[in-house]
Amino acid sequence: KHPEATLLVTGGAGFIGSNFILYMLKKYPNYKIINLDALTYAGNLNNLEDATNEGNYIFVHGDICDRSLVNKLFDEHKPNYVLNFAAESHVDRSIINPRIFLKTNIEGTQVLLDACKLHWGDSESNVLPLKYVQVSTDEVYGSLGPDGFFTEETPLAPNSPYSASKASADMFVRAYYETYGLNVNITRCSNNYGPYQFPEKLIPLIISNALKGHDLPVYGDGLNVRDWLYVEDHCRAIDLVLHGGNSGEVYNVGGHNERTNIDIVKIILDELEKPYSLIKYVEDRLGHDRRYAIDASKIKKELGWEPTVMFEEGIRKTIQWYLEKSEWLEAIKTGSYMNLR
Ligand code: NAD
Repeated sequence: KHPEATLLVTGGAGFIGSNFILYMLKKYPNYKIINLDALTYAGNLNNLEDATNEGNYIFVHGDICDRSLVNKLFDEHKPNYVLNFAAESHVDRSIINPRIFLKTNIEGTQVLLDACKLHWGDSESNVLPLKYVQVSTDEVYGSLGPDGFFTEETPLAPNSPYSASKASADMFVRAYYETYGLNVNITRCSNNYGPYQFPEKLIPLIISNALKGHDLPVYGDGLNVRDWLYVEDHCRAIDLVLHGGNSGEVYNVGGHNERTNIDIVKIILDELEKPYSLIKYVEDRLGHDRRYAIDASKIKKELGWEPTVMFEEGIRKTIQWYLEKSEWLEAIKTGSYMNLR
């Protein structure tokens, strides 16, 4: 049913990338997947334990900014699709040290785009034409007031060094489409949650601290609003964009599931039967965006995508996963997951 294809996935040892690889290997058993990942603190090969036995999955330890390595991989594997998940992804870290965000998120994207441009013709000998998909974020649109939604037409107005770097990368993707006619798509998704998320991010942080009875830090008044989507729904959206997205188009992806941070924390505490007294309000994040909310009607209309996992179900599944995979969290806590590189 599905033609053979070769995918170059970058950042596939991170949270969303690893979920995506596992999803694709299961759905398209005849696809070949090359995972290029630098294994920063956020890269965890434990996430891909279930992928290593597949004959069509190859892991390459390397940096997307390494031009010669990237070109070598293109020469060797002649990918039909390039999916760029690799990024520095944590806003708090970008506030402390913006430099690495420029390097990986902007320069790395440009290296991948150049490789696509250079190897454009190669794909003619393959079954499918080369396509580049940039996995971006709703944070490039900035912050919303109490009303309204981000559409694909909303002007970019990034507020954090992280979102500024992601917005810049999106602009390069756009420019390579406009200037060189590269076959590209950009997806802009809201906050993801689910298995394999590094415990510096809100949901796994709250789950792991609550399990240990530690304080649960909540920024400011806790009323910042995010639109949460179960990671598998995001993976399915990327799959649809990959195969059916019109070239040059941006697709917003979101769950229509707006929650304040404090609500998220209370839902997790209720689920774990832990006391609200663990909640500790801390000084607000600098430049903290108040509200994000996605209008995902374009991807619904053009590609038939809709979220399928309701939040109550998704959060229960996620908590259950972290309870069952306590050794996954433990390996991060002790740092032993870093020994896999
Ligand atoms: P993550 O931090 O969990 O994973 C990032 C991965 O990229 C890690 O495996 C890391 O080792 C790798 N990496 C970092 N620098 C690299 C480099 N120079 N070369 C090669 N690999 C490198 O991030 P995530 O949450 O899985 O996010 C993946 C992508 O999705 C990012 O581009 C992010 O901006 C975007 N995104 C994330 C969310 C979210 O809620 N997590 C929402 C929308 C978009």
